[in-house]
Amino acid sequence: MTTPSRLTVLAGPTAVGKGTLAAYVREHHPEVWLSVSATTRRPRPGEVEGVHYHFVSDEEFDRMVEQGELLEWAVVHGRAKYGTPRGPVEAVLATGRPALLEIDLQGARQVRASMPEAFFVFLAPPSWEELVRRLVGRGTEDEEERAARLDTARIELAAAEEFDVTLVNDDVRRAAEDLVSWTRTPVPATKRD
Ligand code: 5GP
Repeated sequence: MTTPSRLTVLAGPTAVGKGTLAAYVREHHPEVWLSVSATTRRPRPGEVEGVHYHFVSDEEFDRMVEQGELLEWAVVHGRAKYGTPRGPVEAVLATGRPALLEIDLQGARQVRASMPEAFFVFLAPPSWEELVRRLVGRGTEDEEERAARLDTARIELAAAEEFDVTLVNDDVRRAAEDLVSWTRTPVPATKRD
């Protein structure tokens, strides 16, 4: 019997660089299957339907939720809805190929509830100061908005203890290589069943 491959979930605070890490893995490690989320937000320049996201209408997203087609879903930053289509994840894991989800914290908690055998990676900034710099550095938000973002970041950082491991994003290449090596590790017997 083939042991099913591992599902790895990458989550972490806003502005910590999850997207950059996922992009590195997509480019340098095509053997790792990256889930393509459904989202109701509009595509940004350069984003390709079916590669970066499945861009869907609100009605289509709600239909997917109702039909149980999403493994998890969340409203992120109080704006758009994002969710992981369940079918492709299950199909890939059955073939023995490692699968990776790059999602927000609310989504990671839902996956842990339904698939506790998955491996949960918390992506952390090199330091609190660095996260503050990334969050407020652009200078495009007013004082109130910045304070709100920092409050959120503080709460999000405290979630690290819910994860199997914390990955520090001080160097994209090194962090991505560590992440990829974890996706290859078989599911430990203690986490199966
Ligand atoms: P962006 O709009 O910048 O591509 O992504 C915004 C946020 O949505 C990121 O924190 C990203 O991790 C999160 N996200 C992307 N896809 C999913 C998903 O399928 N589920 C959940 N819960 N969050 C997602």
